[in-house]
Amino acid sequence: MPHASDNDPAHADGIVDLVGVGFGPSNLALAIAAREMGAGRLATRFVERQDSFGWHRGMLLEDATMQVSYLKDLVTLRNPQSPFSFLAYLHAKQRLVDFINYGSVYPTRLEFHDYLEWAAARFAGTVDYGTEVVEIVPVREGDGPVEHLDIVCRGSAGERRLRTRNVVLATGLVPHLPDNVVLGPRVWHSRDLLTRVGSIDGSRPRRLAVIGAGQSAAEAVDFLHRRFPDAEVCAVFTRYGFSPADDSSFANRIFDPSAVDDFYTAPGPVKDMLLGYHANTNYSVVDADLIDGLYRRHYHERVAGQERLKFHNVSRVADVVDVGDHVELAVESLIDGTREVLAADAVVYATGYRSSDPLAMLGDDLAAACTRDDAGRLVFGRDYRIAAGALSDGRPLTAGLYVQGATEHTHGISSTLLSNVAVRSGEICASIGATAAVPVAALRR
Ligand SMILES: Cc1cc2nc3c(=O)[nH]c(=O)nc-3n(C[C@H](O)[C@H](O)[C@H](O)COP(=O)(O)OP(=O)(O)OC[C@H]3O[C@@H](n4cnc5c(N)ncnc54)[C@H](O)[C@@H]3O)c2cc1C
Repeated sequence: MPHASDNDPAHADGIVDLVGVGFGPSNLALAIAAREMGAGRLATRFVERQDSFGWHRGMLLEDATMQVSYLKDLVTLRNPQSPFSFLAYLHAKQRLVDFINYGSVYPTRLEFHDYLEWAAARFAGTVDYGTEVVEIVPVREGDGPVEHLDIVCRGSAGERRLRTRNVVLATGLVPHLPDNVVLGPRVWHSRDLLTRVGSIDGSRPRRLAVIGAGQSAAEAVDFLHRRFPDAEVCAVFTRYGFSPADDSSFANRIFDPSAVDDFYTAPGPVKDMLLGYHANTNYSVVDADLIDGLYRRHYHERVAGQERLKFHNVSRVADVVDVGDHVELAVESLIDGTREVLAADAVVYATGYRSSDPLAMLGDDLAAACTRDDAGRLVFGRDYRIAAGALSDGRPLTAGLYVQGATEHTHGISSTLLSNVAVRSGEICASIGATAAVPVAALRR
């Protein structure tokens, strides 16, 4: 239930210090950090296009576990005393001692989602759910610099604008598909696995295919194999086999808050080198226990002479055609070029994600004011603020544009992950707080 204090203050002129676009874990952590600023508390508003809080709902598979320790929750690395910690959640749910006995630092994704929902519920008065930000527009007042932005929002009540001094874009990841693949009733992205699988429940599918060799692909193979005990499940990937994620202690340091400082200050070629060395902590890799489980299951099936789990390794999908009651998948061996056409009841593309483009909702004027490096990538300050110059009419842009997520090229591999949301949120709030024009005493509740 919301508390009276759940409505974060607004300035008397109705302008807020920050509007957060998207209310996933990144901006939820930011909302908490802003509320915990005490005397320097910022006036905030958040906009989320989903109708309620949800974190990768389509992949909340039973038994799937977090890839980070519960101590890398929304707050602990910034403020271990915060009432929004995972431990505080466990205490509130009367499961603290049971979690200790559970004996792992990796909760299930379902439990972590429940934690995130529990925290998000305490910001109910601060978030506009079911509302999409469609554009961000600079506000020109008098002859001076552009100090404010209008956030154009579209929801069931139509279009409206929020005026702010700063915007924090945390719009997450967008599903990636190979060229020419079109999603449809039988061709899914792994993002939608749980929402789409109901459409084939009860139809006794004979064959299902999963494309990809990362964590989501292995989880989808495991899930479909259990869910449909009569179906053959084909994993198709270009690798020779699933490779384990490096979650060893030294490698894990690449996700430390201090690694962001190191990465940010390193020369470009060293940044590229580090991303290359440590890609296998996150990209196209699978939890070692899951690999072992799948291998054993496959082996036991072979012993029993009833092989349902099939691996088409060193292979690519050359063509996929939805013919109505099934999909025809042309699987091509990269070794000898031979092709096999598989008739599948559904195909899951577990082909990953890309960061959403922060410029997508900025109009041409704002986008042109954003500084880019030689490779055309956005230039960010250490405080995650886009370096921006003047607008087309020469006015300087003093309103702040901040990004959580699409900063891997400047801030390193933790940018799209949860590891650093607590500390990063504190840094962004401190940056905005340092430039906030109106003292907190002038805020109205
Ligand atoms: C299945 C899966 C499991 C994962 N597990 C882990 C893990 O265990 N550990 C880890 O560190 N990382 C994990 N990740 C990485 C993931 O990126 C982070 O967990 C996390 O989602 C990042 O939070 P975020 O708030 O930046 O983005 P998101 O969680 O994607 O949230 C972005 C939000 O913005 C909203 N939005 C987008 N555009 C608009 C708009 N125009 N207007 C309004 N709202 C908008 C979206 O609806 C969404 O709610 C996982 C990713 C996936 C796909």
